[in-house]
Amino acid sequence: MKLIFLGPPGAGKGTQATGVSSHLRVPHISTGDMFRSAIKNQTPTGLEAKRYMDAGQLVPDSVVIAMVKERLAMPDCENGYLLDGFPRTVEQAEALEKFAAPDAVVDIEVPDEMLVDRLTGRRVCATCSGTFHISKLAEEKLCPVCGGELYQRDDDKPATISNRLNVYHEQTAPLIGYYAGLGRLKRIDGNARPEDVFQNILSSLE
Ligand code: AMP
Repeated sequence: MKLIFLGPPGAGKGTQATGVSSHLRVPHISTGDMFRSAIKNQTPTGLEAKRYMDAGQLVPDSVVIAMVKERLAMPDCENGYLLDGFPRTVEQAEALEKFAAPDAVVDIEVPDEMLVDRLTGRRVCATCSGTFHISKLAEEKLCPVCGGELYQRDDDKPATISNRLNVYHEQTAPLIGYYAGLGRLKRIDGNARPEDVFQNILSSLE
């Protein structure tokens, strides 16, 4: 199954994508994770992406589309994929239609006022990439799953968050109408317990 997870930053796409991709046995492909790993390895793509990410802006379409096209051509995507964070513009969605059109698009919906708290309180594990909210952590510096170091993403600081939400509403939210028009959209309430969101996603895909 070829799946896309849409939704604003902080909606829980990453957490749900991890669970759903392992349930469906398809690779979880997060463009944000690909960029963070490129930055860590100081590749040319990483160096270019960093200045956009730090400003809360989108990396140019041509760069992201080329990266995703190359990734989806890999053998592990033969039986499907779960894309998390791509497409983020109508131009990206139109490009994807030409090389690996999705079967279904899951839109995880959460009101803006909840997203700011979710993003400022988010911590990420440097080892397993798991994400956690500080309100649920007994030990603020260590990952409760693998014991790795937890850090706050640079773009989860308040100054960048409002940019990211504006960018989402202007450039990514139009994809909801785009995929609804193609008859592939599944709307999911993301303001519920993570395990309920997970079940609702699976039911919507049956
Ligand atoms: P994420 O981890 O999905 O929140 O992505 C972090 C940042 O990576 C975004 O704020 C963008 O700067 C960049 N990024 C990730 N995916 C895309 C995409 N599909 N198009 C453009 N920029 C992206």
